Amino acid sequence: MSADQLLQTQADLRKRYDALCAAGLKLDLTRGKPAPDQLDLSEPLLSLPGPGHYLSSDGTDCRNYGGIKGLPGIRAIFGELLGTGPDRIIAQNNASLQIMHDLTVFALLRGTPDSERPWAQHDGPIKFLCPVPGYDRHFAIAEKYGIEMINVPMNPDGPDVARCAELVATDPAVKGMWVVPTYSNPTGYTVSEQVARELVAMPAAAPDFRIYWDNAYAVHTLIETAPEPLPILDLAAEAGNPNRVYVLGSTSKITFAGAGVAFLGSSQENLDWYCKQASIATIGPDKLNQLRHLQFFRDADGVRVHMARHRELLAPKFKLVLDILEDRLAASKIANWTQPEGGYFISLNVIDGTAARTVELAKEAGIALTAAGATFPYKNDPDDQNIRLAPTFPPIDELATAMDGVATCALLAATEKLLD
Ligand code: PLP
Repeated sequence: MSADQLLQTQADLRKRYDALCAAGLKLDLTRGKPAPDQLDLSEPLLSLPGPGHYLSSDGTDCRNYGGIKGLPGIRAIFGELLGTGPDRIIAQNNASLQIMHDLTVFALLRGTPDSERPWAQHDGPIKFLCPVPGYDRHFAIAEKYGIEMINVPMNPDGPDVARCAELVATDPAVKGMWVVPTYSNPTGYTVSEQVARELVAMPAAAPDFRIYWDNAYAVHTLIETAPEPLPILDLAAEAGNPNRVYVLGSTSKITFAGAGVAFLGSSQENLDWYCKQASIATIGPDKLNQLRHLQFFRDADGVRVHMARHRELLAPKFKLVLDILEDRLAASKIANWTQPEGGYFISLNVIDGTAARTVELAKEAGIALTAAGATFPYKNDPDDQNIRLAPTFPPIDELATAMDGVATCALLAATEKLLD
């Protein structure tokens, strides 16, 4: 476009933006959480296990203390869905995030089974590799405990493994790495088997290097069939690094986000270590909640059928957002975005230096977007280009209005930048 054309386009967009502001909207695209109609799918849980039903199939009285590893039945279901098998997984309380937090704190204070000393006693700060864009709460754990974060690119087949291998091989301070292997937050990318094999096999300067394999969206597909979970613990063991991987998952976005069951899969040695530390804080997880989940699902296919019902609710929302992005932004080429086949997010990249401005314009028009930078360590997106879109929560009519507004804001911010 010539400068004149650009000025004319900006004037048109400004009119459209003023109309948006005048509409008095109050819309929210920040929340990566299930919508009420999704929560309704799990309504029967509220009346399970029901009076008199408190024994699990192995005879455990779920009302009582104990059973730090959780009920075998629910472990078997999620051992299948998360690719660990039934024996190398434990079931805990409602948040996998809490497990990730505790794994980190235990390692800092006590060291892992492979540590020469606690991570906190390392000479200088320890470091975690962070595929970007990524999940803000992973980064918050690291930041809170003074763990230095190193950005590595997240590619469509997983983290840039050559870059990871180089950092891990040469620096003994690199102790950990976050990975969301399936339908990653926020890109929707899924780690390929090849990349997974390389991640578990890469030589590490630190013998206690750990990969947090956070499979939060393992079964959250928007297409007919979910990808098979990689047998990541077997791959790590075959590569001679049996203790390298922590597999995480939960039913937060399967049943109730605030009252689900979370899982940790790892080698026997790591699980024993975790349980030993965790049993100082608890005499066992909420087994009644595990029992009601077990009764509700019955088996892994029960979970798959349930996820197909989520898909029916979510697929139209994702399609709508992608259609609006295509319709409003494709021709101008001021943005690109991911086309996820599952998960909870779409990752939108606008022209460098305009993400924060786009979010600001949207806010002034009454549309809340996730803060620019949130998908990067220290909330610092070096190119100021990434915006995380969360289509799941708003009703579909609100979603349409909000997304159309976001497109206007992104275009307006782009004209401002180009005319600057
Ligand atoms: N991991 C990822 C990648 C997530 O996106 C989320 C929630 O958004 C979580 C973990 C939180 O899981 P939980 O509810 O089990 O703590």
